[in-house]
Order: sequence, then C-alpha cells, then structure tokens
Amino acid sequence: MSDQNAPSAEDLQRLIEAERIARAEAEAKTRELYEANLSLQMMSDTLAARVDELEGERARVMHVGRTDALTGLLNRGAFHSGLTEKLSASHRFGTAVGLYLIDLDGFKEVNDTLGHEAGDLILQEVGVRLLESARGGDLVARLGGDEFAVIAEMAADGSEKTQLADRLLATLMKPMRVMGRALSPGASIGVALYPNHAADAGELQRFADMALYRAKNAGRGQHSMFDEALRLEGEHRRRLEADLRLAAGRGEIVPWFQPVVDANSGRVVGVESLARWNHPREGLIFPDKFIPVAEELDIIGEIDASVFEQACAIAGKWVEEGLIASMACNVSPRELVDVNFADNLIQRIDKTGFPPKALVVEITETFLLQDMDLARSHIERLATRGVRVALDDFGIGYSNLRALMQLPISTVKIDRSLTQDIGVDERMTALVRLLAQTTRALGLSMIAEGVEDEAHAIQLRAIGCHRMQGYWFARPMPGEQMDAYLRKASDAFQSRPEPRRNVA
Ligand SMILES: [Mg+2]
Repeated sequence: MSDQNAPSAEDLQRLIEAERIARAEAEAKTRELYEANLSLQMMSDTLAARVDELEGERARVMHVGRTDALTGLLNRGAFHSGLTEKLSASHRFGTAVGLYLIDLDGFKEVNDTLGHEAGDLILQEVGVRLLESARGGDLVARLGGDEFAVIAEMAADGSEKTQLADRLLATLMKPMRVMGRALSPGASIGVALYPNHAADAGELQRFADMALYRAKNAGRGQHSMFDEALRLEGEHRRRLEADLRLAAGRGEIVPWFQPVVDANSGRVVGVESLARWNHPREGLIFPDKFIPVAEELDIIGEIDASVFEQACAIAGKWVEEGLIASMACNVSPRELVDVNFADNLIQRIDKTGFPPKALVVEITETFLLQDMDLARSHIERLATRGVRVALDDFGIGYSNLRALMQLPISTVKIDRSLTQDIGVDERMTALVRLLAQTTRALGLSMIAEGVEDEAHAIQLRAIGCHRMQGYWFARPMPGEQMDAYLRKASDAFQSRPEPRRNVA
C-alpha cells in the first residue's frame, strides 16, 4: 500500500517542473511589477520637475506683475496692495504708517536735454538710493514717470517721520554721475501719516500729495509734512468744488469785459469776455482760481457754455449798435480736444444770435501745437461762418513760430510777460518789434496784453503795435459798467474833431 501511495519518480519530476514554472512566473511578475514601479517613479519625477518649473514660472510672472521693469522697485499696483496691507497691519499692532511721495525736481528738463537714456539711468539710480535709505520692511515703489513712494511703518506717535524724510531727501540731493556728467536732479517729498492724519488709504495719498505740492511750491529740494493748515486748505477746496458744481446753474459765473483799444485812434475796437465767479460767501473769484478746478471736475464745458451765452447776449447789442467790432472769448484746451468743438460752438452762436463775423475765439498756443491737425480743422470749420481765431498768451510757451504761422489764425495776442519790459529791456523791445513786423507782414493783427501805463503804451505804439489791452485803458468790468464805458468812449470819440495823436 505504502509503495502505491509513495510518489513515483515521474510524479516528483512533474512536481519539480510545476514548481519551477510557478517560480518563473512569479519572478516574471515581480520583474514586471518592478518595471512598472520604475516607470511610475520616472513619471512621478518628471511630473515633480514640471510642477517645480510651473511654480518658478508663476513666481516669475507674479514678480514681473508686481515690479517696475526699469528700477526693479514695486510698481503702482504692488504699491496699492502693499499700502492696504501696511494699513491693516498698523490697525492690528497699533503702529503708524508714513507715506512718502517723492517727485524728482527738474527731471523733465534732464530728459528733454540729455535724452531718455540718461533719464532712465537717473531713475534707476534713484531706485537704488531709495532702497539703501529705506529701512528693512519699508516698501519702495515707482508710481510712474519720476514719481516714487516709500511706505514706512513706525511707532504710533510717528516720531521717526522727519528723520526718514531727511534721510530720503539727503540721498536724492547728492549729485550723480550719468553718462559721464555730474547731475543733481534733487527731489521734493510730501509726507502724511496714517492714522494720525488720514482715515484711509485714499485720504493718506491725497494728503501726502498735498504736502508734496506744497514742498514743490516752496522751492523744491524740500520735504513737507501734512498739517492742520493743509487740512483746512483741503476742506476749503472741497467746499469750493461742491459750490462750483452748482455755480453755473445758479448763474453765479458771469462774463466780465475788458476793452481792446486801437492806440492810434483811441477807439475801442472790441472786448474780451472773461469769466468771473460771484461766490455768495467768498465774493469775486478770478478764473485762475476756479477754471483749473472746473477742468479737473470736468465741468468746464458747462461753465464755458453758460458764460459764452451770457456774453453773446450782452455784447451782441454793442456789436449791433456799432459800439464794438468784435468780442473775443477764451476757450479751454479741454474743450478743444473734442472733435465736435467747432460744430458745437457754431450751434451755440446760432442759438444766441450773435453775429459770427464779430466773434474771435482765443486759443492758447499749447493746444494749437499739441494737435495741429485738429486745431486746423477747428479753425477752418469756424472760418466757414466767419468766426476768427486768435492765438492767446503768445510768448509764454515754447513758441514754435513756424508751426503756428501755418495755421489760419487772424490775430496774435502778445503775453504781458513779453510786453511788460518794452522800453526797459532793449532785447525784449527788439523782439516785440520783430513780432509786430512779422505779424503785419503775414496780414495778422497783433494785440499787446498787459499794457499798464502811458509810457508803456507809447513805447508799444512806437514799435508798431497798435492794438492794446490792459489796466492803462481799463480793467475788466461787469457788463453794465462796460456798457456805460463803451457809450462814453463812443461819445468822446465822435465829439473829437480829429483822430487822436496821443495814446492817452
Ligand atoms: Mg485771453
């Protein structure tokens, strides 16, 4: 029995063979698994590398998105988010945040004379110096152009504020070598503190900006700290803005008139209409105080239109009665950039019934040179209705005679800055004489502005300038007064047997 149960040699052979096969199969599986593992490992390595690569890319993009390409400082966007973060940190920790707005003095001039390359080198150097002077944790940004900012966290009483301003200013006032030249552009700095001065980020920036403006006006190379006086000024300005928005609608902005006199005949030939604001609390406000504000608030169009229509209604009668030949009105450059300016003005003239041929539109050379094609199209469109254009304030900008003379203007008004030294400064006298000859040769008329005394008027007449405007003849005055003035001047002129020889 036992013999029968014992495995035969053949059986053993089969078993061994089966086991060998099983083992081989297992080995094969193991190998397969190992290889699968290996390739999985490789895939995972590749993926990890790719993830690293993408992370790097993301950081680079984030950095570029937050960095000013020229200086490597924070850009405007990063400045805003940085400021928000600093303010909320200051809120949590009970610290203060100083905002230092920095503007280079005379940078534009350097850029214009030495070129953009030199300008860029200066901006880079300024970036380096600001980073060196700032403390760890301060944020340094370039906001654009030659404007920089430093955001500095400090003790709640802000006691370090002046020290840092001194240091920033000192580093920027040091001369720098740019393209082999020693330059000292210098800078002005305005500072405001949160929460000591301002309640939020917007206010902080506005206040620092007001302080910067004061530093610039105080003669540059200075820093200025926001204070109570600036706060009052800011509040006053805000009230004025609110009032100005309603002023035209309330009829508070009215035209005044100043005569233009022909010094040869003594006759009043025309008037210039000038806007005045009769403020209910503050009294008379001059245009240099409210026109720039109106331009900023973008309500200048509405104001100009209202003053223009009133002026047309008043002066239209004087033209009709032959008291004057023309009325000049000033137009804001803000309106001139509108392609429809000429059409709108013509519509307005038609609405008032003022004779277009008696209207002179005064435009400053700054606008004329800014967009010659648009200026030309406005002037030509106005000319189709007989409206003339005068070049105002001639001589205070970068007068480009060649360009200006190509435009179909009718009159050139020489600014007071050129005429005030007539007869005193020989070179200025020669220049105005030349201008008088040139404009006459071109068939243009010339008006001298700012004629303040008789000697002045006689000198101007002697060099060939006959039309004048200025305090010597009359100051600007309200409509009723101008009406009386014109009637008196006309009576005096008509009762005179001969044309006047003297200017007075
Ligand atoms: Mg004018």
